[in-house]
Amino acid sequence: PDLVQKLEKTIQNIPDFPQPGIQFKDITPIFLDPKLYEEVIKDLADFSRGKIDAVCGIESRGYLFGIAIAVALEVPFILIRKAGKLPPPFVGEKYDLEYGTAEIEMRTGQLKPGQRVLIHDDLLATGGTTEAAAKLIEKQGGEVAQFSFLIALKDLHGTERLKQFDAEVHQILE
Ligand code: 5GP
Repeated sequence: PDLVQKLEKTIQNIPDFPQPGIQFKDITPIFLDPKLYEEVIKDLADFSRGKIDAVCGIESRGYLFGIAIAVALEVPFILIRKAGKLPPPFVGEKYDLEYGTAEIEMRTGQLKPGQRVLIHDDLLATGGTTEAAAKLIEKQGGEVAQFSFLIALKDLHGTERLKQFDAEVHQILE
């Protein structure tokens, strides 16, 4: 409630970025306010406490909160990166974009089979990126236990797309 209002005031809506017709949510002003950042991490950490064995954060804004959640809960943090940036060995998962395809990758061996995973990103839009991340976790024998976001854009139905994973979903803002 209180946190929701503070975030609504802080996150900026940028019209026509990165393309005409798109309204971009700029979360960077959160980092100008360390107390607010702490409140965000507390909210996200409270959601996941006792329920996960590892946090996977999605490049790059997923790292800004994901690593702090992992440290707060004293569990490992694993990076999910855009293709072509990680040294081998790694596993990848391709997914469709509006135009063309993309791929995300993760180092092999960092996630242990059977671990319960939180997948975290700053924002859920269509859910394409997060769905690919979840498939990547399952491919390695991990259990997708939770998803968390600062923001979920309702109109794009990302939450519905995540239902196939039978995991809890949390967003601070809709
Ligand atoms: P999706 O795959 O769900 O369609 O898109 C989500 C991904 O795109 C996330 O990694 C997120 O960081 C990024 N993204 C898309 N739109 C926005 C936006 O308006 N603001 C921010 N901060 N990230 C966005």
